[in-house]
Amino acid sequence: MLLRKNLPKICIALGQSDPKRLLELARHEASSGERFLEFRLDYLPRPLQGPALIADFLKEYPECSVLATCRRHQNHGHFNGSIEQQLAVLAGAIAQGAKAVDVEIESAELAIPGVRDLAAHTTLLVSYHNFEGTPAMEPVLKRMLKVPADAYKIVTTARKPSDNGRLLALGKLAPRTPMILLAMTETGFPSRVLSLAGGGLFTYAAPSMAEGTAAGQVCARSLRKLYRSDKLTKNTKVFGVIADPIRHSISPAVHNRALQSRRIDAVYLPFLVNPLQLKDFFVLADRLPINGFSVTIPHKQRVVRYLDAVDPLSKRIGAVNTVWRKAGKWRGANTDAAGVRVPLEKRIKLGGASVLVAGNGGAARSAVFTLADAGAKVFVTGRNPDRVRALAKVCGGTPVLLEHCAEGHFDVLVHATSLGMWPETERSFFDGAIPADIVFDLVYNPHETLLLKQARQQGCETIHGIEMFVEQASEQFQLFTGVSAPRQAMERAAVEALATHHNNHRGDCE
Ligand code: NAP
Repeated sequence: MLLRKNLPKICIALGQSDPKRLLELARHEASSGERFLEFRLDYLPRPLQGPALIADFLKEYPECSVLATCRRHQNHGHFNGSIEQQLAVLAGAIAQGAKAVDVEIESAELAIPGVRDLAAHTTLLVSYHNFEGTPAMEPVLKRMLKVPADAYKIVTTARKPSDNGRLLALGKLAPRTPMILLAMTETGFPSRVLSLAGGGLFTYAAPSMAEGTAAGQVCARSLRKLYRSDKLTKNTKVFGVIADPIRHSISPAVHNRALQSRRIDAVYLPFLVNPLQLKDFFVLADRLPINGFSVTIPHKQRVVRYLDAVDPLSKRIGAVNTVWRKAGKWRGANTDAAGVRVPLEKRIKLGGASVLVAGNGGAARSAVFTLADAGAKVFVTGRNPDRVRALAKVCGGTPVLLEHCAEGHFDVLVHATSLGMWPETERSFFDGAIPADIVFDLVYNPHETLLLKQARQQGCETIHGIEMFVEQASEQFQLFTGVSAPRQAMERAAVEALATHHNNHRGDCE
């Protein structure tokens, strides 16, 4: 029954208990150009009403395809009726024009003749859902294939990064079987983007004006515009960023824009990797395979132990933010260092300049070593005197206790603590006068921190954290791709992503 080319690659999942709202969302999606919508009839208080809603919708938008689903509550849906009643709702949906129906494996196995009847009139998807985890996949596929269907949907819950790889590997195991493979949760997000590249029939997206029906679903615009998921193929190179948390990272916006602007067939994904999952991420990285990735909190230091080669500066810093594969070996570099140095070199000769670095964490470490290498006189301050002294000692700098900072004057202040960072934007490292001519705040969210505002009002030259962000990301891009970075496009993408982040916490979906 099913013709692959007949179904669009992105299906908007609509699950609403209010029939009016369901139709309103469907109309909104259709009028914004979406052509494939799932009506979750089990969300309605009276699912038997569903077929009439489908008819109403298709009368207005005959160009759209509707997938009807009426999942039973035993199988994590909302429908309270019997399997016979479930199939009757779906038969009604088919009669009103639904182009496909989804029946969960638990129902399908018990009602093979009834399901066969449905398949005679429409495209039949048989689906498997696992809300606990991602089990061994081959037995699941074997079980599914016992029920004849046009396509098989396998949805698991990703608990660790490598679950994405094991699930997507099913596509290679049975390349001729039409499948939809998705892992739920934020950890499983990469599968939502990459499933089409592996030959998946379609993927699901959340509506632009409401929540989706599964954890980790994002809106279609994000899948298409940001990740180009409908254009990816098995030759597409995969890059990404590992972090925990990952949700607010602007790196996917910046790197994907750069890849698109240089017309490189590659995608850059957010990978949620918790502190105990770093090793597991490398399993996924080999399986997909991933060509390179950015590293951020909390992995910058621990990731070093998994690498084959790290440059001398990164070794001294003890942390890398960039990992890429060359000749089968994982290499690491710290482009944060250039991210601090290059914007300063555009404004001042660093040799002999006095630079006060506030903070003793990862960013501060990148700053002090590269500044010392560039010949600057480095001073280190922070809230913890022991850490201040220790960092000053390893980089050959001078410790300055917090209360003595204001007594001196420096050519440059590099602010490398997290003070003033969103959402605590009312905080600043200095209450009164800032003892420097140039103030470089590494915090890039918000664009102008309170510290930078104070510095501007005091007549200091200011450098925004976004300059560091773009510099370190540009260097990463070159290491990843071997191509020069489109800096202006990256800066625009970073500024837009930050603005979106402030206006709308659901990303760029609305
Ligand atoms: P980190 O390793 O966690 O270090 C944070 C530092 O901030 C530590 O030294 C900590 O002091 C200090 N700190 C935290 N709260 C403080 C407070 N209330 N008062 C005084 N000091 C405080 O983080 P990181 O990776 O170095 O990042 C620091 C900042 O730089 C973040 O805002 C990050 O977004 C930014 N950054 C920007 C870029 C960019 O591209 N622009 C790149 C990397 C980092 P203790 O040492 O006493 O704990």
